[in-house]
Parts: sequence; C-alpha cells; structure tokens
Amino acid sequence: MIVHVDMDAFFASVEQRDCPDLRGKPVVVAWRGKRSVVCAASFEARRFGVHSAMAATLAERLCPEAAFVPPDFTRYRAVSQAVREIFLRHTDLIEPLSLDEAYLDVTVNKTGVATATKVASLIRQQIREELNLTASAGVAPNKFLAKIAKKKVAKLSCFAHLLESKKKCNYNSIKSIRSNAGCSPQY
Ligand SMILES: [Mg+2]
Repeated sequence: MIVHVDMDAFFASVEQRDCPDLRGKPVVVAWRGKRSVVCAASFEARRFGVHSAMAATLAERLCPEAAFVPPDFTRYRAVSQAVREIFLRHTDLIEPLSLDEAYLDVTVNKTGVATATKVASLIRQQIREELNLTASAGVAPNKFLAKIAKKKVAKLSCFAHLLESKKKCNYNSIKSIRSNAGCSPQY
C-alpha cells in the first residue's frame, strides 16, 4: 500500500511557525519583482485567490495586505529532512517528489502497524506534534490513486468503485482522475 504525504502550504507554514507575527495572516513566500512567482501561499492568502506559481505581482494585487517573505530554501530543506526522518521510522521505501511531498510504500512497515491508514495517521500526528506543521495524506494501492486520494480525501469511496470496475465510476471520480496530469481522456 502507498501513502502519499503532502505538507500543507509547506514554505508558508514554516514561515508562520518560525515567526509568530505571521500566524493567522496572509503570507506569500516569493521574491519581489516583476518576474518572480509565488513559491507558497498560506491558507489565509489562498482565500484571496493567491496560489503557488502565480506571478508575484498578481498576488500583490489580489492581496496587498499579505506579508511577502523571501524564500529560505536552506531552512525548508532542513525541515524536509526532519519530515523524512519521521517517514524513515515507518519505511525505507520513500520516493520524494519535492521538498514537501513523497510517496511511501508501507506494505511492510517497520513499526508493525496493522494498516496503511493507521500508518498515515501516525505520520500526520508525529509531524504535527514534533514539527508543529500539518500534512495531508492519501492511501491507496498505487501511487496514482494515492495522490488522487490525498486531493479528494472526502471522496475515497470513489476509488473503491474505480478499482472494482470502470463502469461504476461516478462523475466525481472521473473528474478527479481527469484533473491529474498524465491521465488519458478515455476515462
Ligand atoms: Mg504541499
């Protein structure tokens, strides 16, 4: 079984964690400048329509009151390493996708926890308690579905249908799959 773990608003959350003045406020991690793009936006900034990869100038127009913080990748890498050490308690089979996302194969996990779902919730709890950050997780028999499950946690029932038979896919599951890159339109 695969667990897809994704740190929530990672760079922005690290900034809010380390700088109490930024907590509860819209935070945009980006260099200033016309050619700069947003590296991360806190949940408070997302409410204004700001999101990662958006031009920093547009983010400034959408949310002028946001705190613009230049990225500090050295610090994010250190936190990412701490997250990875939590993963390593559970499995050695880790495939990082970026500083804030990874696939973990927990089919055989090091702690003997009975189910992948329990491993996922334990990992989320350890990240929360030890690093003061939150993460989302999706659990499924393969990477593709684990990533969809992470995005659509509330629609997990779709995936059971999906695994059973393509004919049983409902609209929501079709939509979720289409929203993932690399998926054939024949679904
Ligand atoms: Mg993330």
